[in-house]
Amino acid sequence: MKHAPRPNGYRDAWCAQLTAERAGTEARVAGWVNRRRDHGGLIFIDLRDRSGVVQLVFHPETAPEAHARAHALRSEDVITAFGTVSRREPHNVNPNLVTGEVELSVANLEILADAETPPFPVDNGADVDEIIRLRHRALDLRRAQVQRTIALRHRVISTMREVLNERDFLEIETPYLTRSTPEGARDYLVPARIQPGSFYALPQSPQLFKQLLMIGGMERYYQIARCFRDEDTRADRQPEFTQLDIEMAFVDEDDVIDCMEAVMTAVFEREGFAVASPPWPRMTFGEAVSRYGIDRPDTRFGLELHDLGEALGGTEFKVFAGALSSGGVVRGINAGPRELPRSDLDALTELAKQHGAKGLVWAFVQEEGWRSPIAKFLAPPELTAINQRLEAGPGDLLLIVADEVTTVGQTLSALRMELARRFEEIPRDRHDILWVVEFPAFFWDAGAQRWDAAHHPFTSPAGALSDPANLSSRAYDLVLDGTEIAGGSIRINRLDVQQRVFELLGIGPDEAEARFGFLLDALRYGAPPHGGIAMGIDRIVGALAGTESIRDTIAFPKAASGADPLTGAPAPVDSGQLRELGLRPA
Ligand code: ASP
Repeated sequence: MKHAPRPNGYRDAWCAQLTAERAGTEARVAGWVNRRRDHGGLIFIDLRDRSGVVQLVFHPETAPEAHARAHALRSEDVITAFGTVSRREPHNVNPNLVTGEVELSVANLEILADAETPPFPVDNGADVDEIIRLRHRALDLRRAQVQRTIALRHRVISTMREVLNERDFLEIETPYLTRSTPEGARDYLVPARIQPGSFYALPQSPQLFKQLLMIGGMERYYQIARCFRDEDTRADRQPEFTQLDIEMAFVDEDDVIDCMEAVMTAVFEREGFAVASPPWPRMTFGEAVSRYGIDRPDTRFGLELHDLGEALGGTEFKVFAGALSSGGVVRGINAGPRELPRSDLDALTELAKQHGAKGLVWAFVQEEGWRSPIAKFLAPPELTAINQRLEAGPGDLLLIVADEVTTVGQTLSALRMELARRFEEIPRDRHDILWVVEFPAFFWDAGAQRWDAAHHPFTSPAGALSDPANLSSRAYDLVLDGTEIAGGSIRINRLDVQQRVFELLGIGPDEAEARFGFLLDALRYGAPPHGGIAMGIDRIVGALAGTESIRDTIAFPKAASGADPLTGAPAPVDSGQLRELGLRPA
């Protein structure tokens, strides 16, 4: 910590400030008892505050009263201690601590608060069940790794603010109690007492407000914004999460991308996270999906997908022929010279099924033909053609999926990640960042029999709306090591285009007016071309900290179930409250 505390009755220095240069001076420190050791009459306490740890020593002869009190100290008691900084005996020096050359010989000790035995140790990195950690989050937050991640999160956000402030952005807040802002998830609703039967929605993002800010002449906006989406919680998803939300007027894709590259480069540099300097590569959605099966490719390793349609043009093998004749695809991965037992191949098949595939074809390439349950169904020239397409030689393991295109992509991309993990092909010391661009504007929702916006309904299409199936949008995503860390687009700034997009999405004029009338209204009065992006702060901090779950990057996260073990939320409310809200008859 850089700024010494103002001396008061508790402390005049941070623990970590008591380094060798302070030897011979007096100091007062305060904090929590990290650990106690009794040693031949002497008592040693490791005292912890946010800055770190310093050793206190209590001598029975020189400070009998403090020594007697120290006897009663237990882990996590809160104390303040005054004494002289003295050099440790050479054999007691701890080179791993900044304060390891000294200790504070305590003259005076005051116990400020007792602690009961904590439900888990705070002084080490012991593996503790997450629910217990979250239930006792105040204790968990004291642990060194959690302190580090929360401080990292603070630095990331401050760096973002610094770069944007420098570039003339204004930080502006937008409402939490609002109307639905569609981002493709379910809304959290808040019943309105003032209008029984009506509800506010918590924003899925500040999307419409930031567009109004551009129409309102704010030119450059950002916000560290909380977003609320009622979706199933996963390792990289929380019911409420934080975005760096950005919008800029009179810009095109390159302006937003350039600005984000500056923000993220500053963050990466400050944290010593090795990523190539910008400009970062751009890959089209089409290329990402055909090479990696997914629109957020992890490009740190190969195992790319290859299309086998041509090699199998006239095949009589029903599984392949059926997929191809019904408009699907057959694609495969060459996993390289791997020997896997049957049980592992069964596990991979199971994984394929979890991603919607009907099955998985596996084959070991041999000098002559294949070792595979389906080898007998393919003609030798077909085997040769597949081998060529997958650049396969004897010993290589091939994995092939036949299905409709999205299922094949999702399945093979999951298999690709699983193979890379299993065979340790993901480089630990390399990070890949890239933009994915030229997304499709719309996709056909076969269940609902209508077009859906691939990004959100306010994204500008890259061309005329007459052929939605082949139209791309002006959206862009930023992908770090296979995780989408940001997404945004250039927006529609013309009323007629926005109205036609709503129509295409099956939102009729009345519904559009009811739900988005305020946006349509604003678009009537001179909306500048504008665009923006949102960066997922939790995911970015997670990547920098190397945590497994974004829960570790949030001071008070929800558990994997979506509930909060700390406060017990969500919780029932009493019937009086429900009546007041008009949710129960009076
Ligand atoms: N509102 C979008 C989102 O939250 C981001 C954007 O388009 O700026 O994903």
